[in-house]
Amino acid sequence: MLNKSYLSFLECGLCRERYDPDELWNLCPKCGKPLLARYDLDAARKVIRPQDLANREPTLWRYLELLPVRDDAYKLSLGEGFTPLIRAARLEDEVGHSPIYVKEEGLNPTGSFKARGLCLAVSRALELGVKSLSIPSAGNAACALSAYAALAGLEAHVYMPVDVPKPFINECRVLGAQVHLVDGLITDCGKIARADLEKYGRFDVSTLKEPYRIEGKKTMGYELAEQLGWKLPDVIIYPTGGGTGLVGMWKAFDEMEKLGWIGPGRPRMVTVQSDGCAPMVKAFHEGKEFAEPWPNARTIADGLRVPAAVGDFLILRALRESKGTAVAIPDSEILEATYILGRTTGIWPAPEGGATLAALLHLKQSGWIREGESVVLFNTGSGAKYSRVWD
Ligand SMILES: *Cc1c(COP(=O)(O)O)cnc(C)c1O
Repeated sequence: MLNKSYLSFLECGLCRERYDPDELWNLCPKCGKPLLARYDLDAARKVIRPQDLANREPTLWRYLELLPVRDDAYKLSLGEGFTPLIRAARLEDEVGHSPIYVKEEGLNPTGSFKARGLCLAVSRALELGVKSLSIPSAGNAACALSAYAALAGLEAHVYMPVDVPKPFINECRVLGAQVHLVDGLITDCGKIARADLEKYGRFDVSTLKEPYRIEGKKTMGYELAEQLGWKLPDVIIYPTGGGTGLVGMWKAFDEMEKLGWIGPGRPRMVTVQSDGCAPMVKAFHEGKEFAEPWPNARTIADGLRVPAAVGDFLILRALRESKGTAVAIPDSEILEATYILGRTTGIWPAPEGGATLAALLHLKQSGWIREGESVVLFNTGSGAKYSRVWD
């Protein structure tokens, strides 16, 4: 049955060219940059109020009108989203700052927030008639695609670096995906996946290379507002690889203001990367609009090993508009902070989650985060599959 999605058109994030949202698109055919979904928010504003959401299902589908799937028959769900926002009292004591909240994304299906993006991308691809999907991944995205493709009955091809921890490979195989191991980084996986796309007629669901993964990830922004009583925190610290979550939340805040759900105030957005792969941090501090590819990218935080991001200008724009910042942290400190986060919260974090705490410690020490400012750390995934890091 047709639902009340207010999706109205797709718009290029750079050149602003518009496209029909009911056709399949990857990047903007004109300029090669990401397409963003736009909604008729004036119409939605008259119909939905925040208090109407209270009794809805505890998944990201509670924001259905602001999501792109039009027919409920294509709404795939494994219980993704609406993850807990946990007040971390013992962590506050340990680091001498409060309040600190942790958004616990490790509880998503397949153990990371990648489930949000792939849930939407696969649902919408199914709705638009796609049969076979392809993704380059550092591990978590591959698992998430495999799960939603299995649920939908679609073919999934996942391309991962050969050195990806074994549990990621095992999970993809159990979920019925075709696993392709590539001798190289995620960017090399991307190249090989791309070569196979046309040959075999597969649809590419790489980060920001189709318009809907970001729609899944933007729901983190809606959830934060809802869970904090339609207020936003002062600071959000986000471990940034391709940047979908950061750009998505920034988009969600704009949408919510247009819907009349929140005011004009915004959190300061913080990107954290490893100093072994910090293209966004470098570009931010150099005042650049686009980032240069990072040579010899290496870090234990696999999700942050992204030497070049197609949405770089969107990440940098959100950081600057929010008066945020970007910090690079050595892997040794990321690991140390991951253990602190674990033993003070009871969450087994991915190193990417640990990186957000390391960034908080830096920003507190430098005075950039002031006493009493509310901070949200994103634990973007469970640590359980990162066997190499703990062994
Ligand atoms: C993919 C990933 C990231 C990076 O997410 P982006 O939104 O692409 O920047 C961070 N943490 C984990 C655990 C990931 O899997």
